[in-house]
Formats: sequence, structure tokens, C-alpha cells
Amino acid sequence: MNIEVDNYTNYKEKEISGRYITNESIADLNYKYSSEICGYSVNNLPIHFFKIGSGKIKLLIWSQMHGNESTSTKALFDSISFYSNHEQKMFNKLTLLVIPILNPDGAFKYTRENYNNIDLNRDAVDLSQPESLVLKKIYDDFKPDFCFNLHGQRSIYSTLNFNSSIMSFLSPSSDYDRNETDSRVKSMKIILEIVENLKILIPENIGRYNDEFNINCVGDTFQSLNTPTILFESGHFSQDYTREISRYYTSLAITYAIRSIYSNGFNLKNHKDYYKIPENSTGLCDVFIKNIKINQSLSNQVVNLSILYKEKLNLVSKEIEFIPEISEFGKLEKLSGHLLSDFISIKKVFDISDKNDLNEIITIAKKLRNIQ
Ligand SMILES: [Zn+2]
Repeated sequence: MNIEVDNYTNYKEKEISGRYITNESIADLNYKYSSEICGYSVNNLPIHFFKIGSGKIKLLIWSQMHGNESTSTKALFDSISFYSNHEQKMFNKLTLLVIPILNPDGAFKYTRENYNNIDLNRDAVDLSQPESLVLKKIYDDFKPDFCFNLHGQRSIYSTLNFNSSIMSFLSPSSDYDRNETDSRVKSMKIILEIVENLKILIPENIGRYNDEFNINCVGDTFQSLNTPTILFESGHFSQDYTREISRYYTSLAITYAIRSIYSNGFNLKNHKDYYKIPENSTGLCDVFIKNIKINQSLSNQVVNLSILYKEKLNLVSKEIEFIPEISEFGKLEKLSGHLLSDFISIKKVFDISDKNDLNEIITIAKKLRNIQ
């Protein structure tokens, strides 16, 4: 029996759920782990961190550098809970420094960028934002042996055969030639150990992120400073828009990565196998309708239609709403959808510029696929 797999509901941090995760949502968890404040955001929200464990190997983990990428924050707390409850020996080998929400303004506004509309993951060289300076100072003071850079990816990402990329990973490049430096190779090996364990559960849903070098990205900068750094991208699965399913797989990925480091298991891997992990592509949309009749340019056409949901924070309910928007239509041979429906038997001609028609399309598509 794998406790981390089978006992998930016991160690899962149930007080946080859904897509909207802010400083407020994690206040109890910050308290539980005796967090301290390491700096303030542009709009003066505290940036919390905590240390856990007393081992020699130092691991720095940060999440929600992009404010609306909250799944990995939930997963990170689940993984720490797993180790606290079931595998405490880890804390004798590792010291973790955790920043659960690096971009609290973005988390509050549900945006990728910070309060100044700057993408913190393009600010590693300029260090123009207070959040970037906080992370750099922590990195310089803590001198980590390894870094985990936790993110979430959009629903458009796929692996082979239009399977959803529920998890993807990257060993960022250290230079423009994408050389296999020592730290890059170590990161590749840890990723291989994560994938080996995860693929038992989701063999078709693990991808490898593009490794083009960009020194402005934090992972690339830390990797170039010879600190093995792993990018985790928590993706989308089917109709789970609260991302509680990918949360589970992300928490396992973090758990396996930590175990790989403290057990030294990664050393046994052949890093060349890293390139066998399928590269992410963008083959998916949220709703894909085949053979739909639409009225376009004063004539009726039968097309394939791709719809993407725009995520919008409802300030009253504090929940994320998913607003359908037409992405494109035509043959779209290289595209599929998380919700895939064939309208060949539907006689109606739709006006896709009409919001009501768009909502009706989704209602019919769900009905045809027996989705509530
Ligand atoms: Zn991100």
C-alpha cells in the first residue's frame, strides 16, 4: 500500500479548496506552521514563509508567484501534511523553506501579475518588484541545495493524442545552448523519479515543458547559479474546474520529489530519459463542438468550434466564474476539447456572436455527454 496514494483524504488539508486561494485562505495553515513575514507586496500585503525540518539538505519551495495559479499551493500544504503525519524521518534529512504565496496581491485580485501588472517570473534579472527582491534575498540567505518553483498551467495544454497535461515539469536551461549542466541534470533526474511514480496513476497525462532559455525567468536564473531547480506545472483534468483532482496529483508529485532528494534516489536515474517525456503541446480547448451549424457572413456553415473559458473573480461570492468565449472555428484538425461533443444531429443554426446561443451550445454539449 502506498500511504500517499491511498490515504490522501486523511492527510489532505481540507480547509482550503477551489481556485481562489489568498493570504486569508491560508491564515490557519500559516499559523499551524508558525510562519513569519519575509516582506511585503506592492500593495502592502505580507509575504509569509516558514521553515520546517532540521536536516542538512536545504530545499526552497515557493508557490503562487503567479497569483491565480493556486492549485500547487493547495497541493504543497497537502504534501507537507503527508510528511508531518506519515513520514517524519524526512524532516531529519531536509530543511524546507516554504513561501506558499509569493504574490499575495495577484492572489487577491486573481491575476497572474502582481499589483503593478508585472509578471514576477520575468523579473529575475531586473528585480524591479518587492516580491522579486524578497525571493532573491531568501535565496541568497538560505543558500538552498534545491528549489521547487510551483505553477499552474492553462487547460489548453496536452500530451500525446490530445490527452490532458495534468502535470508537466521542466528542468530549466542554464544557458542559451541548453547545456546539460550538473544542476540541470540533477533536476532532470528528480523529474524522472517523480514521473516514474506518477505514471502508474496517470500514464498518458504527464508532459515536459519547453526548455527555451530565458534568464528573466526565476528558474533559469537559479539553475544558472548551479542550484538544481524544478518547475512544476499543475494542469487541468476533464470537468474538474476547481482543480481538486490535479491538486491530488500535484501533491503526489511534490511528495515524490522530496522523497527523491532525501533518499538520493534520483542519482540512479539516467538523465537522457528525461527527453522521452512527451513535450507539452496546445491541443486542447475547454469545449470542442464538431459539426455545428453556424450563421457566418450571411450564410450557414457547418464547422468545428472551439470554446475557451475566461476565468473571472466574482467579488461577492469570492469564487471564480468560467465565462465561455469563442476561440476559433473552422476545420480545427489539430484540436480537441475537455468537453467534446458532436452536433451532427442538432438542426439549429447558431449565432455564435450571441451570448445566449453560446450558453445554449454548452448546455446541449453537456447534455449530449451526460454532464451536469
Ligand atoms: Zn505560472
